[in-house]
Amino acid sequence: MRIDEKLALDAFKTDKDSHIIIRHEICRKQCTTKHCLFVCPGHLYSYNEELDEIVVEFAGCLECGTCMVACQEGAIDWVYPKGEYGVQYRYG
Ligand code: SF4
Ligand code: SF4
Repeated sequence: MRIDEKLALDAFKTDKDSHIIIRHEICRKQCTTKHCLFVCPGHLYSYNEELDEIVVEFAGCLECGTCMVACQEGAIDWVYPKGEYGVQYRYG
């Protein structure tokens, strides 16, 4: 089974509040590499040209923490989702 097929089996319970906060002023002023756009295994980060903002679809977060580590500017405040929320792995 391929990794994307395994990930498709996972279930998510989504909080209304994001557990990932991006400090956009840091992205705009200091970041040239934008590693967050490339490291997420769920491909959840994107750039919204209209808003000039990095956007993360937190509902699909796999809770690996990679984006927080990869952001060398420290612009990502990341915590685990509250209580019963977040990913439920179905295949290891
Ligand atoms: S890597 Fe960090 S600072 Fe750069 S765009 Fe992404 S969140 Fe912003
Ligand atoms: S914690 Fe992992 S899955 Fe969640 S947004 Fe960051 S890189 Fe993507």
